[in-house]
Amino acid sequence: MDIRVDPEKCTGCQLCVKACPYAAVEMQGDIATITAACTLCGACVSVCPVGAIIREMPDVAEIDTSNYQGVWVIAELDEDRLAGVTLELLGKGRELADALETPLSLVVLGNGVGELVTPAGEYGADRVYLVGDPVLEQYRTGPYTDVIAGLINKYQPEIVLIGATEQGRDLAPRLAVRLETGLTADCTGLDIDSEARLLVQTRPAFGGSIMARIITRNHRPQMATVRPRVMRRAEPQPGREAGLVEIPVKLNEESVLTRIVEIARDQSSQAVNLQDADIIVSGGRGLKKPENFALVQELAEVLGGVVGASRPTVDEGWIPAYHQVGQTGRTVQPKLYIACGISGAVQHLAGMAGADCIVAINSDPNAPIFGVAHYAVVGDLFEIVPALTEIAREELEGD
Ligand SMILES: Cc1cc2nc3c(=O)[nH]c(=O)nc-3n(C[C@H](O)[C@H](O)[C@H](O)COP(=O)(O)OP(=O)(O)OC[C@H]3O[C@@H](n4cnc5c(N)ncnc54)[C@H](O)[C@@H]3O)c2cc1C
Repeated sequence: MDIRVDPEKCTGCQLCVKACPYAAVEMQGDIATITAACTLCGACVSVCPVGAIIREMPDVAEIDTSNYQGVWVIAELDEDRLAGVTLELLGKGRELADALETPLSLVVLGNGVGELVTPAGEYGADRVYLVGDPVLEQYRTGPYTDVIAGLINKYQPEIVLIGATEQGRDLAPRLAVRLETGLTADCTGLDIDSEARLLVQTRPAFGGSIMARIITRNHRPQMATVRPRVMRRAEPQPGREAGLVEIPVKLNEESVLTRIVEIARDQSSQAVNLQDADIIVSGGRGLKKPENFALVQELAEVLGGVVGASRPTVDEGWIPAYHQVGQTGRTVQPKLYIACGISGAVQHLAGMAGADCIVAINSDPNAPIFGVAHYAVVGDLFEIVPALTEIAREELEGD
């Protein structure tokens, strides 16, 4: 890959100089010049108003995939901590890196985030690439894409993992386009084909009717996003240390197109934190009508859990969408999942099959949910759920 300036077109506006996070564009007279510090991040190409900066990508046949080494996780922050999805990706990344006998690195962007190096090491990273700057205080598409694309071009990891969160879904496709590589979104499984040294990315396709196994054979890095709670985080190893690579950047607030004015959290959806819940009681179409969600709600309350739902109940307007579990809802990993009147379609299972203990209540003994259930209760939920609530109340509240 190469970036060059067409001197015939350059107007000397210097927008590229201000936009380059690696201070790799200089003016020679009225013409911009790309210096040896260029990481090929492409920030100058995006910002040039007259198309004077040209990025030339190599032919597929010219890409030497053996030059790419290492597994990277791009960190997401939850206030001043590493987000849960990042810890989960470090767990999976560790497995992949061990299979490839290559280092696992975490890329952390932010402002004053140096203390995250310690948990990164404890959760499995061998190395942390740390980029600190006030412009990076909050996630914004432009500067994060520019900085991370530059780092990937410079250090050439073979695998890059990103959370399939609001942030990751914004960032990952932009990076893939910038790097001209493949991206598999919402993976439910990641493995290594050690013979071919390829990342095998599994995800549901065609509405969940098949599980596709996808590889990125000719381009690098191999990029995948994974939703929170799909992978399991590794046990932290206190005292395990990661090496630190601090990356100097020169970022300019004026070059960033967006300002964050306020962060307003949706209180209602926060109240139903399905992803972090230990106990979920979910209702499906077997509840027959919206009022009957009260049965599920009562059992959830007595057990100290939260209410989940299948998609048809959400589509019918029986319950808000943030309760939905499954392929197009939330992926959950509770200790206990009680499915009431849910058939167990593959799209529902995609969101909850990782629960530690699944109890299914269904009147149909052949319901597919029983295929994943640890405890199968065949019967009428209108008798069983209130009875369970009563027993739980007696056991837990002692009356
Ligand atoms: C692209 C795509 C994405 C999708 N994403 C999701 C998703 O994210 N989440 C999701 O849930 N679905 C999703 N679906 C829909 C999915 O295919 C199923 O249609 C859905 O999960 C079925 O919901 P259900 O189990 O509540 O309803 P049903 O399949 O109608 O099952 C109702 C169950 O209740 C049982 N029952 C009835 N009466 C009683 C009773 N009195 N006591 C006990 N049991 C009783 C029945 O035996 C039956 O098994 C998606 C579909 C597509 C195509």
